[in-house]
Amino acid sequence: MPTILTYHSQILSGDDYARNDHVALAADLRLLTDCARPVVPLSFVLDAFDGLRNWSSLTHAVVLTFDDGAVLDWRDIDYPGLGPQRSFANLMRDHIEQTGTPLCASSFAIASRRAREEMDRLSLFGRGWLSDDWWSEATREQMIAIESHGLDHDHPDVDPTDPKRGNFARIDDPQSCALQIDRASHDIERISGRRPQAFAYPYGQASDYLRRHYLPSRGPQIGLRGAVSTEPGAVGPGSDRWWLPRYVCNRDWCSTAELRRLLESH
Ligand SMILES: [Zn+2]
Repeated sequence: MPTILTYHSQILSGDDYARNDHVALAADLRLLTDCARPVVPLSFVLDAFDGLRNWSSLTHAVVLTFDDGAVLDWRDIDYPGLGPQRSFANLMRDHIEQTGTPLCASSFAIASRRAREEMDRLSLFGRGWLSDDWWSEATREQMIAIESHGLDHDHPDVDPTDPKRGNFARIDDPQSCALQIDRASHDIERISGRRPQAFAYPYGQASDYLRRHYLPSRGPQIGLRGAVSTEPGAVGPGSDRWWLPRYVCNRDWCSTAELRRLLESH
């Protein structure tokens, strides 16, 4: 069954696999090639739900997803205290060049520029690491698809005076869903040049209303074809396309040996 893997480019606390998803991704790409696991776009899995592709063609497939859309997905940066970090995109390009293996990924980005600026200022280093200046370039190259991670992630940094923030499950009425889903897709398309096809629930949280009612009815009208959770598991024809399971690096596996076992378990 196809497996969706999740990495975070901006959460770094060291230079080894367990503390640095850049180190982990580079090692995992080698493992996937060694195990003959094809990396396919998330759209292939969504095609299978639509009957446009056979599930059997995706048996060993792996989908790469990156959460929060930091520029470290795209651009090498000098990380304070840790030194130069190769971006996820450049790790993929290096791997393609070394092995000839085709690669692709989805990056789930936060739509609101103001929200990203506040998060960058308060939770990162205020160096513009949540900027959107790479989205259209990525869209043109087609290696990394920019998808939706909501309007503002309901992140506490956006309004530190609101103690209810930081809980995406509270997005449970038509008005707040329209902002976090419709408005986010609109804004991302305006900046990237491509309408998002997939949504990733911030913090892996969703209200019943958003997950079971709003997205299944409204999603297709605005171009969305599915949504990913952070509930661990493989994807299959019986999965809920609006709550697709995903494994998270350094939560569900912490080494290439563990990833190998995880992939072999399906
Ligand atoms: Zn997130």
